[in-house]
Amino acid sequence: MSNLKIVELQDSEIINFAAEELKRYLEGIDNSLNILIEKGNTVTSIDEGHIYLGTINQFNLDKPEVDDPEFDDGIYIDINSDRGIIAGTNARSILLGVYRFLREIGCRWIRPGDDGEIIPKKDLSNINVNVLERPSYRHRGICIEGAVSYENVADIIDWLPKVGFNSYFIQFREAYTFFDRWYSHINNPLKGKEHFSVDMARSFVQRLVKEIKKRGLLYHAVGHGWTCEPFGVPGLGWDIYNGTIPVSYVRYTAEINGKRGLWGGIPLNTNLCYSNPEVREIITDSIVKYLEEHPEVDVLHFWLADGSNNQCECEECRKALPSDFYVMMLNELDKKLTLKGIDTKVVFLLYVDLLWTPEREKIENPDRFIMMFAPITRSYTTSFSSTDISVDIPEYKRNNLTFPKNIEENLAFLKRWQKIFDGDSFDFDYHLMWAHYADFGYMYISRIIYEDIRNLRHIGLNGLISCQIQRVFFPTGLPMYVMSRTLWDDSVAFDKIVEEYFSDAFGPDGKLLKEYLERLSSLFTLILSMGEHSSSLESIDRLAEIREVVENFRPVIEKNVSLRTGNIARSWLYIKYHREVVLGLISILEGIFKNEPDLASKEWQELKHFLQKEEDVLQPVFDLFEFISVFERVLKISQ
Ligand SMILES: [Zn+2]
Repeated sequence: MSNLKIVELQDSEIINFAAEELKRYLEGIDNSLNILIEKGNTVTSIDEGHIYLGTINQFNLDKPEVDDPEFDDGIYIDINSDRGIIAGTNARSILLGVYRFLREIGCRWIRPGDDGEIIPKKDLSNINVNVLERPSYRHRGICIEGAVSYENVADIIDWLPKVGFNSYFIQFREAYTFFDRWYSHINNPLKGKEHFSVDMARSFVQRLVKEIKKRGLLYHAVGHGWTCEPFGVPGLGWDIYNGTIPVSYVRYTAEINGKRGLWGGIPLNTNLCYSNPEVREIITDSIVKYLEEHPEVDVLHFWLADGSNNQCECEECRKALPSDFYVMMLNELDKKLTLKGIDTKVVFLLYVDLLWTPEREKIENPDRFIMMFAPITRSYTTSFSSTDISVDIPEYKRNNLTFPKNIEENLAFLKRWQKIFDGDSFDFDYHLMWAHYADFGYMYISRIIYEDIRNLRHIGLNGLISCQIQRVFFPTGLPMYVMSRTLWDDSVAFDKIVEEYFSDAFGPDGKLLKEYLERLSSLFTLILSMGEHSSSLESIDRLAEIREVVENFRPVIEKNVSLRTGNIARSWLYIKYHREVVLGLISILEGIFKNEPDLASKEWQELKHFLQKEEDVLQPVFDLFEFISVFERVLKISQ
């Protein structure tokens, strides 16, 4: 085909965008193409030289069938030589269908941003693509964390539908803390602090929501903050608050050890006296008002305070569990929203104290709510595949709780909630928040992500919203790629996804790189799992082994950095930087195992300085702020 018309069967921003994207990529693949975008209402025949974009209904198709056409995606692609259709269950699905089609003809998006695109050059005169798919899970998204610039978030939102995700979650009302960490360059003294304000964060969020909407992604919003913002106390992040607190707020806060006030000085961690009807009224009114002002929100998260063992001990609050008061508020909120004709879905969460099910309250309108299981204290050394949930749930002891680490106990809590709530639900998980830093090859965490997602259906959850660092593509984007692929189709073998990724992102030597990173992952995992009781001599030997692996692989990296071109060369450049990081970490760990803290500290300073100096190169794929924060906390190295 040399002349091609893309016909939009609906006039919506999302379909316009889908058509533009299709045109842009097809012209990039085959520059002999001349493409026009047209609008149409109905389609009677599939004409030569035309690709039609519309919904399943517009093409009178009876497949794919879905439960909820707003939330559930489904695509049907039928393109033969120079004509055909791309259909979706909703506008977002049409866009997902466009990207799915492009993947079928060779396009790859190995990480966010232009430098993550692999676009083939070829003649498109004879293409045949037939795909009928429904993703394995309804909820497929990620949630903002770490340090981010505006461009980082815009890039990841742009990337999500390309690899099959359908949701993005902006935490808090303005995500201030995540942007501020970047613009203040907290862990990089070589960069000057840039001016940043709450107003700037608000305007960023407004612009980002436009990007989310342009792609029809499900917009998840807020989460924490409902326990302070409505009372005139800002909850912008987890920092200590130094401003003044309204006097009226203090009497609403939880009474702990006979005292009311900010818990640890942090508004976000301060729970309230939920037995007080005024408290519940203020919170639920505030959520209603927020949703009236923000009709663009698809899924509103209503969480209580962060932190643990911080619940009110007053006489009235002791009469019920925190989850009883929580459910009471959920029911009150639902009634208010219904009265206003607002049908936005509300997420409630199973997290810390709220893991214990209510004893007297019951959710009255399950259709309003989505249950979110957030096992933040879980271990990431095993996956959900171990589903022995016969373990007993410990008794609820107010402000004296220890939280479950192992998967079995976490799942036992979930199971108990599932007995009293059978509505929609998903996993809110943290694989790429901290745990991935213990896996320097990213191969091990990728497999845990894979196994967890495959097991979501068995534990009764319909998807994953990953609460994670956004710039998590260093050394590779494999964990994110595995996440997107498996949420879309959980029947694909892990090894197949891995093989595909390494070949797409690294070319012919991808296989060698895969073996190299597998060795790094297994050696580091071994060292970190040895624990305090194994001899440090053994650990030092292992470190020497890693150093040898890294040195032996050096020529492969050098060869590929100089030989490859375009974004594959970029992928190898990141591996070259990664090698320096691994060598630095080996030296630091040697210092620690040899009990030479000064040496460890000196090596850490050097590694830090190297990364600070090179931050601009790695910025899109590597979150230096989080890396430094986590390593200084975990390794207990003096700064
Ligand atoms: Zn109370």
